[in-house]
Amino acid sequence: MRHPFPLRRCLCLTAAFFFAAQPAAWAWSNHTLCTWPAVEAMPQVAGHSVPAETLAGFLAKEAAALPKVLEEEEQWARAHVPFYAPRPDGLAFNVPGDADAAALKLAFVHAIRVNEDVPIALYRQRPPGTDAATGRGMDWPALSILKNPEDVDLKQMERLEEGEAVPVADVVATASNEPDFGLDIGLFQDNGQKQGALYSFGTQPFGNPLLDYGSQAPFHMGFYHESGILYKAAPYLQKTYPEARVHLYMTLSRFAFAQGHPYWGWRFAGWAIHYVQDMAQPYHARVLPGVGVPSMLWTSVLDMAGIHGPKLAALNRVTNRHTSLENYQKNRMTVAYVRGEMGDPLLAALRDTGGDATVQRLQPDTLREVSSAQSVAVADALDAQLERSFPARYVSDAATNLDGKDADLYALSRQAPAAEQAKLADLVADRMRQAGRDTRAVIRAVAPDESAAAQR
Ligand SMILES: [Zn+2]
Repeated sequence: MRHPFPLRRCLCLTAAFFFAAQPAAWAWSNHTLCTWPAVEAMPQVAGHSVPAETLAGFLAKEAAALPKVLEEEEQWARAHVPFYAPRPDGLAFNVPGDADAAALKLAFVHAIRVNEDVPIALYRQRPPGTDAATGRGMDWPALSILKNPEDVDLKQMERLEEGEAVPVADVVATASNEPDFGLDIGLFQDNGQKQGALYSFGTQPFGNPLLDYGSQAPFHMGFYHESGILYKAAPYLQKTYPEARVHLYMTLSRFAFAQGHPYWGWRFAGWAIHYVQDMAQPYHARVLPGVGVPSMLWTSVLDMAGIHGPKLAALNRVTNRHTSLENYQKNRMTVAYVRGEMGDPLLAALRDTGGDATVQRLQPDTLREVSSAQSVAVADALDAQLERSFPARYVSDAATNLDGKDADLYALSRQAPAAEQAKLADLVADRMRQAGRDTRAVIRAVAPDESAAAQR
């Protein structure tokens, strides 16, 4: 009997259907919680403040020097980032320093191909339990293009004045959350947003192009260690851009420091740190943790034959586990901050410098060869642990659609036996240890030495 459908088509559909429903692109919720403990004791950071500077102010002063550094960056990306979509030459930064603030900003966001409508305001994010100073509160649209703050507590967002001294730790931590405010949203041509037609990123390689925040997924995920057969069936899985983003923002950070703009040196460093931390999240480094390729293929075959249950169950399970992990991390760390429990294992792991010697300074291949590889190595174990730590309805029941808002998975995890609670905390702390190590590796790679960084 003839096979009812060609194998290759089957494989393509396998990957396509698995990805059609990967909605969560946040990785860790609220990256500031990861960044503060990671950097607070670094000599480049502790005790230092820098004067806040608007983006327009930075661009006006550096309009003559930026074209060269951005052009070199573009050439580096074309030569070194696999599957990189070259930036159209017409988007190269080329405006005079006396152009108005809006023109400077537009030229810059086009040159680095981020969403044109993100305000890129002067602000800082305060820790849980600390509200913005009176009269310095901010509206959400002044910060983000997203409809809702989601995991951000607006009370913690504080407006800064130009020239005001800001602790370096706050600049880096605040900036490390900023790529989740919409910088990478709507950049593909099928996202229905204006810059999508300009940027030449093509159609969105995976995920639902019409979902609001879903379109940032290819910038915040990197699948570098999947099986050859999966890449063959779904080559678009390789069209991801965290390496390009990290290198670009580290380059801009070094440039800003060298040109005498320490605020922007730290803020760009924070932007790079976001993507490095994302890579510590196994659901951002593996397509389907806990599912082997043969199982994916068999599930796909069943689906093609009209038996859809196993496919839907697999999709739902990976989505719910991804969300559960982030929900647990956010709630556990928020509680620790509010109660001042800085010895919490997750926060302690972020401060743990024991592994720093293995990644002293982040290199262009660190994200792929070290950070992603280590996340991939523990993905299956963590996936299995989630199943043992949370009530089945959240991580195994195909009928549940966990959106992460109406449940506190940290609270629920405490219903599990103590041994399972400890194992989960260990595995998530291990992810935080990696995030902390790589955060510091970015800072050592970009910041001037301690004395030069201290510009007060
Ligand atoms: Zn992210």
